Amino acid sequence: MPAVRPTYDAVVVGLGIMGASALWQLARRGLRVLGVEAGGPLHELGSSHGQTRIFRRAYWEGDQYVPLLNRSYAGWMELADATHDSIAVRTGGLFVGPPASKLVDGSRRTATRCGIVHEYLAAGEITRRFPAFHVRDDAVAVYEPDAMMLFADRARLGYLSRATAAGAHLVHGRRVRALRSGTGGVTVSGDGWQVSCGAVVLAVGGWIGEFLPGEIAPLVTPMRIPVYEFDVAESCRPDHLPGRFPVFLVEDSTGALVYGLPPWQAGAGGLKIGFHNRQLSPVKPGADRRAPSDAERLELWRTIKDVLPGVRSTGRGKACVYTMSDDEGFYIGRSQEIDGVVYVSACSGHGFKFAPGIGEVLAQLAIDGRPALDISAFGPHRAASAGQGER
Ligand SMILES: Cc1cc2nc3c(=O)[nH]c(=O)nc-3n(C[C@H](O)[C@H](O)[C@H](O)COP(=O)(O)OP(=O)(O)OC[C@H]3O[C@@H](n4cnc5c(N)ncnc54)[C@H](O)[C@@H]3O)c2cc1C
Repeated sequence: MPAVRPTYDAVVVGLGIMGASALWQLARRGLRVLGVEAGGPLHELGSSHGQTRIFRRAYWEGDQYVPLLNRSYAGWMELADATHDSIAVRTGGLFVGPPASKLVDGSRRTATRCGIVHEYLAAGEITRRFPAFHVRDDAVAVYEPDAMMLFADRARLGYLSRATAAGAHLVHGRRVRALRSGTGGVTVSGDGWQVSCGAVVLAVGGWIGEFLPGEIAPLVTPMRIPVYEFDVAESCRPDHLPGRFPVFLVEDSTGALVYGLPPWQAGAGGLKIGFHNRQLSPVKPGADRRAPSDAERLELWRTIKDVLPGVRSTGRGKACVYTMSDDEGFYIGRSQEIDGVVYVSACSGHGFKFAPGIGEVLAQLAIDGRPALDISAFGPHRAASAGQGER
């Protein structure tokens, strides 16, 4: 009897930014693809929702990210062209801290070694160029003029609309319960339904442990982390708008790392600000949406009020999820646990900007098993400190 052809060449499970990007990459190659998402198109239970994200390439986290960042930069520009929509705005990026901090020292080293355009600014120069910022005399900054603010929901929906235009099928509101590999490929099943396919791209963020319990679950921890929108004093508002106000990271003398972005459009609320490495607590994905307390909001405000004196203590907070790995690097690869499955997870609070590059890598892995970029730095067996030892 001839082998039965699977219904799809590939199924993408999870349509956060990684799944959405992979779906487009598969569909544009003319493959028969299905994307399955447990939530609605704009649900807020994963990590990809919201108005904005930071894109930067002077990456304090290490040079190993730069090839994927360069690929992603080109990918964001391509998505903007394909959707005729504004996907990103170039704001510049300001990375402030003590000269020897991991942020300033790391950003400068990566930028220098990898040829990323940047400037090194002393304290007085920071305030002269960016009047909203008042930094200590001993602080310095790396300024990356090509850093951008990405429009997150718009980018994700852009990928989904390009994918459907290229023939992809989409299903929202269906949870995948099981993946089973066999001779003809992989069977993907949920409550009362199943489809067969040649390969699965598993892009379920913090839920990955449900599918790869031996291989990836022990390596990742979903964490609740709050993000805030802070009000800005009326008289200072013009200094906090794109054009005068870059996306930023600030590291203080205790090692606390704070990120922030201007309002996504003039008149649209305050500044988006959050701790990157404080106020994290383990959580079951999708479970703890408890709004941040006043004490949590004030802890953050006290950390940034001297650097950004125009920012008021008032504002609104939301709980979000980071899916963390121990070394804060991503996991991308081909599953050893279920044949025919490739995966991404542990985007560790900084993965959004990489979505075009990671989506392409996932599509290449799913199709012929070989990505064009070297992704050995993101495999589960990497050395714990790979790429960071030179600092
Ligand atoms: C507050 C905050 C700020 C951030 N800021 C930045 C930034 O400035 N720059 C940056 O680069 N990155 C940033 N990040 C990180 C970035 O947003 C994440 O790394 C990225 O969104 C992870 O995307 P993902 O697709 O892997 O996961 P997710 O967005 O969590 O998507 C996984 C999807 O899988 C679905 N799913 C789960 N289980 C199933 C199932 N069984 N069946 C079907 N569907 C399922 C979920 O519903 C979800 O939609 C930030 C993250 C947060 C939370």
